[in-house]
Amino acid sequence: MSLLDVLTQYRKDPSLAAGPASLLPDAETLDQSDPLRHKRDEFLLPAQSVYLDGNSLGPMPVAARQRAQAVLDQQWGEDLICSWNKHSWIDLPQTVGDKIAPLLGAAPGQVICCDSVSINLFKVLSAALGLNPGRRKIVSQRDNFPTDLYVVQGLQQLLGDAQRELEVLPEEEIEGALDDQVAVLLLTQVNFRSGYAHDIARLTRAAQAHGALVIWDLAHSTGVMPLELDQWNVDFAVGCGYKYLNGGPGAPAFVYAALRHHAALRQPVAGWMGHQSPFEFSPEYTPAGDIRQFLAGTPPILSMSVLDAALDVYRDVDIRQVKQKALDLADYFAARMMEFPSLQSLELATPLAHIERGAQLAYVHPQAFAICQCLIAEGVIADFRAPNILRFGFSPLYLSFRDLDKALERFAVIMKEELYALPEFNVRKKVT
Ligand SMILES: *Cc1c(COP(=O)(O)O)cnc(C)c1O
Repeated sequence: MSLLDVLTQYRKDPSLAAGPASLLPDAETLDQSDPLRHKRDEFLLPAQSVYLDGNSLGPMPVAARQRAQAVLDQQWGEDLICSWNKHSWIDLPQTVGDKIAPLLGAAPGQVICCDSVSINLFKVLSAALGLNPGRRKIVSQRDNFPTDLYVVQGLQQLLGDAQRELEVLPEEEIEGALDDQVAVLLLTQVNFRSGYAHDIARLTRAAQAHGALVIWDLAHSTGVMPLELDQWNVDFAVGCGYKYLNGGPGAPAFVYAALRHHAALRQPVAGWMGHQSPFEFSPEYTPAGDIRQFLAGTPPILSMSVLDAALDVYRDVDIRQVKQKALDLADYFAARMMEFPSLQSLELATPLAHIERGAQLAYVHPQAFAICQCLIAEGVIADFRAPNILRFGFSPLYLSFRDLDKALERFAVIMKEELYALPEFNVRKKVT
């Protein structure tokens, strides 16, 4: 019986989970047959905590720390400005882009590392609108990550409302809203709150059948979801360097632009690094004819170097195995949770079907904020998303099934004793 089968049975008949005999294999057995278990050695993790928030900020790969030291001491410290050539700093956005490309199912030359997801969205959305003149509508999902919607609203303001119109719809109305007025369909594959995952191939086909271009935000996908952007004929995508890619806080993001658009596209944040020949210092802007045209200013070499090193963790892993383990971890967690009476007040808000899920689970509880603070104080790092969601991320390269047992034992005590009601867990800081 698969872990999903156990979970499904428990949900059908909760008395099975409450019974004395668990239907789940034990964590140790699962860890022993985990093909990714050796990857944990490549990370620096605090000894006592269980990290279930790699979907927000990935932990530190050993290689990232070493690279940071080398870039500081040797490259910047000793070689100074010569490093632009000597250590190929100038090529880093492309080098890192090409390292990310296999995780996206993209041939080389279509991915570049730069800026933040928000800035990159502004660039690709402008470019996509430019490629589809005469159409007014941008369709997106109402529960998209807010920055995606803000970027559309900002661009709309800049262009004038008469030019563009943003239509934000609930998940289930998106396909029906695609028509010949739609210039761009802008979606995030994995919903940051619920963990629901869109079918990129199907929605891309549906949008393109009406002549729309598609932009996918892959912030909660890259590094954990098997992606085939070339095969699915995706037009543009953006994604994040600091979540599953473990590039460190504020690590630069990336842009994917299909090769077929490179010649015709124009992006508005024209800067010298996106120029065909930046070091000719010409007063006229001529964009680089390739993916480099998405660059604007000088790349952040320190953080991009760290991301470059962090990506080496992926050199020998099959992303399908990564996704499978993420699902297994989540299924195990959700099923084991049902075996603790004190955890029954939390309601799962993530779909069970594997193809409709990313690598996280969302639980709804009116005290989600305080519970999350209390979990963190007990060394179980999860996160809270307003108004009432407790989110657990299952990043497979360093988590074990035994970690989940450890986390759930602490979680059960917190709920049983209502430790979260203590005043110190009910104070909201700037970042929640
Ligand atoms: C994390 C995340 C972002 C982050 O955007 P930044 O501009 O890099 O801060 C964007 N979109 C989604 C869906 C995210 O989950």
